[in-house]
Amino acid sequence: MQTRRQFLKISALTTAVFPFLKVKTFGKTPFKESSTKPIVLSTWSFGVPANAEAWKVLNGGGWALDAVEAGVKIPEGDPKVHSVGYGGLPDRDGHVTLDACIMDEALNCGSVAFIENIMHPISVARLVMEKTPHIMLAGDGAYQFAIEQGFKKENLLTPESEKIWKEWLNKSGYKPKIDGVNHDTIGMIALDTNGRLCGACTTSGLSFKYHGRVGDSPIIGAGLYVDGEYGAATSTGIGEEVIRISGTHLVVELMRQGRNPQEACEEAVNRVVRNKGSKIDSDFQVGFLALNKNGDYGAYAVNKGFQYAVYSQEENNLLKDSKSHL
Ligand code: ASP
Repeated sequence: MQTRRQFLKISALTTAVFPFLKVKTFGKTPFKESSTKPIVLSTWSFGVPANAEAWKVLNGGGWALDAVEAGVKIPEGDPKVHSVGYGGLPDRDGHVTLDACIMDEALNCGSVAFIENIMHPISVARLVMEKTPHIMLAGDGAYQFAIEQGFKKENLLTPESEKIWKEWLNKSGYKPKIDGVNHDTIGMIALDTNGRLCGACTTSGLSFKYHGRVGDSPIIGAGLYVDGEYGAATSTGIGEEVIRISGTHLVVELMRQGRNPQEACEEAVNRVVRNKGSKIDSDFQVGFLALNKNGDYGAYAVNKGFQYAVYSQEENNLLKDSKSHL
């Protein structure tokens, strides 16, 4: 749960804490014809250290799938990130419930939804992909599968998150509300030196949501989609609105039809905007990131303030304010 002001602080901190990353930050960013590989992109400022981890794999000539899994595990394990993994804010009943999915260049994919007490849901999603005939496991079944695969049961509710939840309980009347600050996701998409496109997406979803709520992030074609022949896309923001338009599948399909990544993200956001009409205000956020097979990328959001990180050619950059509708 981070306000824009907190994000700016975090960006400054990221630079202070990870000076070796050579982080550069930029303002409004146009479509970038980078045509470079390897390259990795991810959502929000916690994407900076996540990309740095992914880069270790990509730079060594490794598989983009290994890179995105390793990358998103960084915010999953970071208790200071309140919208992903350990330290994520709980639902209204105090349960930290997590959603994650992963997809490779050959349409192989795996997902877990509404899983509790497992620090790295992305790795469970990968094992669903690799070791079961299924794509998605949810709730207790996902947890049981994780335990069978050797994952440890862990309490993900940190004292800090518990305190924030209790404060919310005192003032909210136990009513979930979606606003501009109570959610965020790491979505990561990467292209490796062998031209393989892969992606991963993981979140604790909306804080103080109804118990059992699942967002877009574990849904293939909503929070993440990869077509290894054309492109990859990931999303962040109000998951319900992304599911409604099959957001990332739409972005990738538009790239398949010839749009560049920027145009594809803009068209997907325009659909959200057309659908919501006058209900869009400064609290409403949906953003998309897209990367094509050439290494060109784009980003677009409904509201100002969408940040994303790009690591290519030895530089890890935080792009602080993507182009947006408002
Ligand atoms: N898309 C996430 C969800 O709805 C939240 C976010 O990325 O802001 O669960």
